[in-house]
Amino acid sequence: MPRKTSPAPKNAGTSPRGRERKDRVLQTRVPSSLYEELAENASRLRVPVSNLVRNILEDSVRMVGNIVEGGFGIAEALGGQPVRERRPEIIGWQSLTAAKRLTCSRCGKNIAKGRRAWLGIAAQGRGSEVICPTCRKSLSGS
Ligand SMILES: [Zn+2]
Repeated sequence: MPRKTSPAPKNAGTSPRGRERKDRVLQTRVPSSLYEELAENASRLRVPVSNLVRNILEDSVRMVGNIVEGGFGIAEALGGQPVRERRPEIIGWQSLTAAKRLTCSRCGKNIAKGRRAWLGIAAQGRGSEVICPTCRKSLSGS
């Protein structure tokens, strides 16, 4: 298999994940109770504490990224922000009744409280979007 320079697969678990050649050192103070807990867990997993911390940080950063990505769709619906150019790949639509005024992420129209709307759910936690009935109809036609 040819060696790629692009990022490593996301499901690499505890493997190096194609880290950059020059790792940076990140120092931080933690409460001794947290350190002891980390050390205990590292001992149980038979890995150095630094490896465990690095893996936890990598997982957390990826998780936060997914939450932020998902949050954009929700923020657009709730806050009436401008429509994004890049949309998540929607794997399904769920009908819903607006519990408050929403904004269609496609056309920007308001969706009044109590009106029907659709929540688009993206694959693998990559976000969501809320659309109005008009936009939903236009999607059905395509
Ligand atoms: Zn719309």
